[in-house]
Amino acid sequence: MAEKAPKKRKPMIGLQPEGDVDWSTYRGVLVVVEQRGGRAKPVSWQLLGQASRLAAKLEAPVMALVMGSNVSHLAQEAIYRGADRVYLCDSPELENYRTRPYSRVCLHVIRTYKPEIVLMGATYTGRDLAGAIATHLPTGLTADSTQLEVDDERLLLASRPAFSEKMLATILCKQFKPQMATARAGVFEALPRDESRTGEIIPVPPQIKPEDIAVEVLEFLEATGKVNLEDADVIVAGGRGLGGPAGFRLLEELAAELGGVVGASRAAVDLGWISHDHQVGQTGTTVRPKLYFAIGISGAVQHVVGMQNSTYIVAINKDPQAPIFKIANYGIVGDLFHIVPAITETLRRRKAGVGVSSQGAVSTPQTV
Ligand SMILES: Cc1cc2nc3c(=O)[nH]c(=O)nc-3n(C[C@H](O)[C@H](O)[C@H](O)COP(=O)(O)OP(=O)(O)OC[C@H]3O[C@@H](n4cnc5c(N)ncnc54)[C@H](O)[C@@H]3O)c2cc1C
Repeated sequence: MAEKAPKKRKPMIGLQPEGDVDWSTYRGVLVVVEQRGGRAKPVSWQLLGQASRLAAKLEAPVMALVMGSNVSHLAQEAIYRGADRVYLCDSPELENYRTRPYSRVCLHVIRTYKPEIVLMGATYTGRDLAGAIATHLPTGLTADSTQLEVDDERLLLASRPAFSEKMLATILCKQFKPQMATARAGVFEALPRDESRTGEIIPVPPQIKPEDIAVEVLEFLEATGKVNLEDADVIVAGGRGLGGPAGFRLLEELAAELGGVVGASRAAVDLGWISHDHQVGQTGTTVRPKLYFAIGISGAVQHVVGMQNSTYIVAINKDPQAPIFKIANYGIVGDLFHIVPAITETLRRRKAGVGVSSQGAVSTPQTV
């Protein structure tokens, strides 16, 4: 398919780079890999998966940018996860995230290697970095995207929920390159890790000037007791149906049996039954576990947007009309105070090698 050359358009604002810019020299989809202490955030690999899909349509390379201190293993990992070319900036000055040194490296890579699309996770770091870069280039940035596609004119269609999820706004950046977007964790699917993939690793010198070191990180304190919903394979989430904080003990027991973590609806968080870092949904965390239990959760749209991409959803609710059943793979209609302990007990017995009846310990509920 012949590529359409992007049309030259008059700049709308005075931030246009000097002279006539030939945007057609911009090629490739770049993912900025986020890491802390040498461990990549899962959203980085999810975005490399989506970048690979977009790049296939654009017939363009998949690029990754890895920045940090002692992070060369992540450059190789990025190749296994879909990157064709990895720009690696490994420097002690990049040990902790700081806006200016990190954006300096990003700006250098973008200006030198000219990707047409740049993607980052919509994490605290990603949001900070993306905004800083976009204003410098200058170009357009869509924050917190949940859909990323490209059209026949090579334009990125970055869609994000707006007005409390009541509408989906698709935002285009027609006049500038690269087209930038941050995207929510848990929305896109990572490619299977493939150790047979090959790619090129291009070292990038740190572009850091003394004036960029305006912020000194004295100490990094990991939030203790914070729940890591994003990385969890199993999430056992509860809502208002739990009736109070004590209900969450039942969920903790089930989660412990399954090696999972406890999630919550906003209603449960607002009632003070559990802390906000457990909240799943639009104003909480977007998750993508292999198994998601929605227990005493009605399935309001603001909750569902945060967990609908789970591989398997099990809903337990006494109301057969609850909307959560529309997206559940398995549904149990009944009282959670009977069902949850019964499932936990069944799992315990299985682990202990004690036989259970063919119906297991859960005998009363009706499956929908
Ligand atoms: C701007 C905005 C942002 C929001 N962001 C979020 C968000 O990030 N996350 C989120 O979750 N919500 C969010 N909400 C709130 C959302 O609209 C819902 O109010 C909330 O998700 C409802 O929580 P729930 O399902 O726990 O409670 P309810 O809707 O009250 O549902 C409780 C369910 O428990 C069932 N139940 C009761 N007793 C039992 C029992 N004994 N056994 C079994 N089932 C039982 C009931 O049948 C019911 O279906 C947001 C709302 C707005 C306006």
